[in-house]
Amino acid sequence: MRTDWQSIKERLRAEFGDAAYKSWLAPIELDSVSATRAVISVPTRFMRDWVQRHYLDRISQMLTDGAAAAPAVEIVVRSAIRAPDAAKAANVEAVGTLSAAARARPRPAAPRSHEDISAPLDPRFVFDNFIVGKSNEFAYAAARRVAEAQTVPFNPLFLYGGVGLGKTHLMHAIAWHIRKADPNRRVIYLSAEKFMYQFIRALRFQDTMAFKEQFRSVDVLMIDDVQFISGRETTQEEFFHTFNALVDQNRQVIISADKSPSDLEGMEERLRSRLGWGLVADIHQTDYELRLSILQSKAEKLGSQVPSKVLEFLAHKITSNVRELEGALNRVVAHATLVGRDISLEATQDVLHDLLRAHDRRVTIEEIQKRVAEHFNVRVADMHSARRARAVARPRQVAMYLAKQLTSRSLPEIGRKFGGRDHTTVMHAVRKIEELRATDTSFSEDVELLRRMLET
Ligand code: ADP
Ligand code: MG
Repeated sequence: MRTDWQSIKERLRAEFGDAAYKSWLAPIELDSVSATRAVISVPTRFMRDWVQRHYLDRISQMLTDGAAAAPAVEIVVRSAIRAPDAAKAANVEAVGTLSAAARARPRPAAPRSHEDISAPLDPRFVFDNFIVGKSNEFAYAAARRVAEAQTVPFNPLFLYGGVGLGKTHLMHAIAWHIRKADPNRRVIYLSAEKFMYQFIRALRFQDTMAFKEQFRSVDVLMIDDVQFISGRETTQEEFFHTFNALVDQNRQVIISADKSPSDLEGMEERLRSRLGWGLVADIHQTDYELRLSILQSKAEKLGSQVPSKVLEFLAHKITSNVRELEGALNRVVAHATLVGRDISLEATQDVLHDLLRAHDRRVTIEEIQKRVAEHFNVRVADMHSARRARAVARPRQVAMYLAKQLTSRSLPEIGRKFGGRDHTTVMHAVRKIEELRATDTSFSEDVELLRRMLET
């Protein structure tokens, strides 16, 4: 075996080029050499796998001068506990056996128990209470997978989406599930803000080793709202090391943010890219069906009789996020309980007056057409078409009526928007709907519901 590692590295650089050298080869260290065997090390598991796949054969040839028949070079991950500023420890651990063994082996005593640094978990945030729809099914499946897996399925799991869409709920659900299934596993959940706070505290009390120990001895680390440490360089640096250390030891890391890794501004490039190495799952804005299911489930949990018209109304109106949706329902129910009256559409509108107004925008004829078409299950194109069949003519008349009521457009303008119809057609439609409303209460309620949904 050769021991002139530096000259071997120079040869690697010449062969593979500067870029590859800088990324993959420069960080390699020669840890030990004997007559027949050499051990080299890299800082992360990912690098280990990469180097192993792409460069190990060549490195091996060079170290043995092409003499060895069997692979004589082993590549390992440098001990993850080794802090970036700590003295270079000769503490090389065998790879591949870590996850199971690491759990069994006694851990260095943490200065405080992990429950102390973990934020409390909301007992309502469990999988059973999470309603799955199109917008969140992928994130949900990923979360369940991580919670139920015996080994780490992907690392990190990165959940992202706008506020109030269920990121924290899913993280808590994972934590509950794991804690219940295996109370010995150390699960830490905390916000990035709290992480930063703990870190700054540790710096102030010159207690950073204890800080590192705490975090690096966990089995599952969840950091919520990681966008919070955007622009905070030292915290990011520390987070990055903690993150790498855990991933290298095959511990599960779960991160949430309001944006995808690549869109996280103010994050160091290497951290951003590292965050995206595992599974990235986004939670989209809710759709009407999901909002309605959530409301139905929450109403049931509240043990209160909420008419389905009210639930539908809320699902149509409060589209921003689930948190607001829940808040609106709670208010409506609380109000009804307080005044001892049944929940009605009118009461709901009254109670949520301010909230609804904030959500209101100027309604357009296009929106009216779209909503009405949806409601009556016809195509939007039928709003403009010449078809006279009752099934499409009636919805078209409702839409014209609502356009007259809710916008300031004149009859000819409205006519033009409905496939170039004459203003007398619009006038006729308005009269027809008024007549029907006067005689058919259920039809009238339908139109009223539509009106309330659209109303400015
Ligand atoms: P985020 O962390 O993404 O801002 P949260 O997880 O705090 O959002 O969710 C906000 C509220 O909405 C919580 O009360 C949560 O229980 C609820 N929620 C969000 N998504 C769902 C869902 N799919 N099913 C049931 N409740 C949900
Ligand atoms: Mg949250």
